[in-house]
Amino acid sequence: MDYFDYNATAPLCPAAEEAWLKASREHWHNPSAPYSASARARNLLEEQREKLAALLGDGLDPRRIVFTSGATESNNAVFNHYMRGDSHARFLVSAIEHPSIHEMVVACPANFTELPMTADDMVCARGLADALGRGGASLVSVMAANNETGLVQPVAEAGRLCRAQGVPLHCDATQWLGKLPARELLRWDWLTGCAHKFGGPRGVGFLVFPAGQEHLKIQFGGEQEHAHRGGTEDYPGVAGMVAALEYREGLLDALVQEQLRNRDQFEQAVKARVPGVQIIGEGAPRLWNTVMFIMPGHKNTRWVARLDKLGYVVSTGSACATGKEGPSHVLTAMGYTRYDAERAVRVSAGWMTGRASWLGLADAIARVWKGLESEQGDEGSGRSNVIRI
Ligand code: PLP
Repeated sequence: MDYFDYNATAPLCPAAEEAWLKASREHWHNPSAPYSASARARNLLEEQREKLAALLGDGLDPRRIVFTSGATESNNAVFNHYMRGDSHARFLVSAIEHPSIHEMVVACPANFTELPMTADDMVCARGLADALGRGGASLVSVMAANNETGLVQPVAEAGRLCRAQGVPLHCDATQWLGKLPARELLRWDWLTGCAHKFGGPRGVGFLVFPAGQEHLKIQFGGEQEHAHRGGTEDYPGVAGMVAALEYREGLLDALVQEQLRNRDQFEQAVKARVPGVQIIGEGAPRLWNTVMFIMPGHKNTRWVARLDKLGYVVSTGSACATGKEGPSHVLTAMGYTRYDAERAVRVSAGWMTGRASWLGLADAIARVWKGLESEQGDEGSGRSNVIRI
């Protein structure tokens, strides 16, 4: 099986597995208990906090990091923090954010202003500057890279504009971390990440909060995580997460250019063999591992099932949207119709995906296309093939 759904989750990388097993075998004690074995686990947990701070940026104070259960919790925590503090808090948020943000803000429309996008499907810097200029914003949220399309967002520019107006910027870096260097993510104040997207264990993540928010409370019921989050700390999970990120960061410089070449060849091979296929954000900066196609005709569920039979795992979009009715809010926000969204197929490769696998998938896509075309025409009413609304 060739797995191309790394944006949904990634298998444990060997460095994470080793760190997790060692921590689970040797330092499984409750880090908050009052005996020496626990003190050891507690010290090791703090060491991981320091290591993660060093990976995330020069001079980041480790006390600004809270370990969480993942990116959904971290994102929810940021917005809950502002909503609890001020029922009139105003959020400037891009429409392509992950549902763990999008669903929170659309539930309170009076507090939420949607940031405009450019024709390239990037958060529009001028639109952000205008929105900030109108005043009253409590928080801006711009994700680093989109989970469905891979489109990279202008976080550094957003950070610069936010700083100029004294408004904090939250960045959901869940899909960026481990795929592009963390040090290139500049000028955020709040940062979200989670381990399983870069080869760490499931159910562990982190939130970095800005200096000056020392009273942040994510979960009540205990004084763990420097009183920010009650609940027994998962030292093995944290050790696995930090080991995974350290491992990925060490490989990125050599890997990114090579994978971009593989991805380009793959895209050319698909375009040459599937007439009318469209790649979302083709000319814009995207993660090296992600391609979102709008297939010409034939629903994405059929593509996924046929490719699965040929041994290739791809998806119809984000895993969190599975089971939901209606088109993805990301594609709708980008102006794609429901018809297009139902034909969206996401390919997301991993660090070890070689050229042969990329090109093997292109062959399989061409085979599926031929098979579908020879069986019958498109299902559904007439092909609109990417009409922008
Ligand atoms: N944010 C983004 C951009 C994501 O892609 C995901 C997962 O798909 C999440 C948040 C949620 O992550 P988790 O599974 O850790 O809750």
